[in-house]
Amino acid sequence: MERTEHPLLSPSLGHQKHLVSFRYGAEDARPKVYLQASLHAEELPGMLVAHHLRPQLEAAEREGRLRGQVVLVPAANPIGLTQRLNHRAMGRFEFGTAQNFNRHYPNLADALFDELRDRLGPDPQANVALVRAAATRWLRDWRPATELDSLRRQLFLLAHDADVVLDLHCDWEAALHLYAEEACWAPLAPLAWLLGCRAVLLARDSGGEPFDETLSGLWWRLAERLRAQGIHHPLPQACASATVELRGEADVSHDNARIDAKALMDYLLHLRVIDGPAPTIPRPSCEATPLAGSETLHSPVAGVVAFCVRPGDALAVGEVVAEVIDPTAPGASRVHRITAGVAGVLYAAIGERYVVAGGEIGKIAGATPFRTGHLLGA
Ligand SMILES: [Zn+2]
Repeated sequence: MERTEHPLLSPSLGHQKHLVSFRYGAEDARPKVYLQASLHAEELPGMLVAHHLRPQLEAAEREGRLRGQVVLVPAANPIGLTQRLNHRAMGRFEFGTAQNFNRHYPNLADALFDELRDRLGPDPQANVALVRAAATRWLRDWRPATELDSLRRQLFLLAHDADVVLDLHCDWEAALHLYAEEACWAPLAPLAWLLGCRAVLLARDSGGEPFDETLSGLWWRLAERLRAQGIHHPLPQACASATVELRGEADVSHDNARIDAKALMDYLLHLRVIDGPAPTIPRPSCEATPLAGSETLHSPVAGVVAFCVRPGDALAVGEVVAEVIDPTAPGASRVHRITAGVAGVLYAAIGERYVVAGGEIGKIAGATPFRTGHLLGA
């Protein structure tokens, strides 16, 4: 095991933060799995899962069972962890720029295409090595001007050449669910079933350049651009990347973390990163649905929110999700019912119980795509 402290760019006199990573296994060992937690700094279930994973990964290494390597970043956002306002954690957007910590990662396919176009050949594995080496060089040459970009660069330096990348988040109140790109869903499906996901949301470039999609997108975007120019050298989808939503912000418990760490260790056995008996992959715990089919419910009126269903419940069209109540309105107009516009699992809901007009109530994983443009929320 190697513990490394990576200094971030100092943003101001007397300030210096650093990111801590752990590497288990040899630096060049394959497969490589990269795991990070709490990129949105107030989303803490993954941090506790990392705490439970560390001794298990150390034991696997000590017992000589580590064939590949695992890079673990238990607290991926030291900037966001310091941000508090009125006694509350504020770790989703950087205070200085209002930028989401999980957006604006570099589009490496665009950055590297011209350099790579004429250097790829008929050997798929040689092409993968070439692309990874070019990405490493590009990231090493990147000179960020801000602390936030220096964090993005350091996370990408640790993750960009991994075969599998898992970014551990959570929602406000939620059932366990997972986001991934269509191009890399197949190798991630066993993970979804080991975790017992209640929803899987698949997209193809949902917009905004989030961490996970920018890493998996490097491969399919490059392959697509090559094909568009009539170049048919083989380029596999060499990175499978997912955002795993470990339930809700308050679901931080040793019981949950132990269960999730066990699922992740079983997935590492399944990937043969760790030697041992292959786990039995459970039957699918949900249907994989398009992110473009996910309905975000909004309330047209302000009021106190009383939920009628729970995250994880499967809803029919028209089913009442919540009542929004304005106790100051006259007569029966004081109750407004929010109903499901699509059939599917309510996978996330707001954590507060007062909503302003136009505010979000929750999200339902519908099976039929109907949305276009940017598919992720703020
Ligand atoms: Zn998040």
